[in-house]
Amino acid sequence: MEARCQCGQLRAEIPEDVARLGARVMCHCKACQRRTGSPFGLMVYFPREDVILSGESTEYTRIADSGNELTHGFCPTCGTPF
Ligand SMILES: [Zn+2]
Ligand SMILES: [Zn+2]
Repeated sequence: MEARCQCGQLRAEIPEDVARLGARVMCHCKACQRRTGSPFGLMVYFPREDVILSGESTEYTRIADSGNELTHGFCPTCGTPF
């Protein structure tokens, strides 16, 4: 499976079998609302080693309510979250 950002410079490739098993998470905390600009964030997580990223990305790390560090990436040109 291939995903790409709105402007097309940032791409992610994920094997089909891994794509089917990704952990789906829906969250409506304030951080997810601010990150997405919508009432909730809908995310799918994959093991980092299974994802091939190409293009330029920027990361933002914050401390989650759990106390763990949480890093989200996004395209620096069009802002699409990755
Ligand atoms: Zn982009
Ligand atoms: Zn959240």
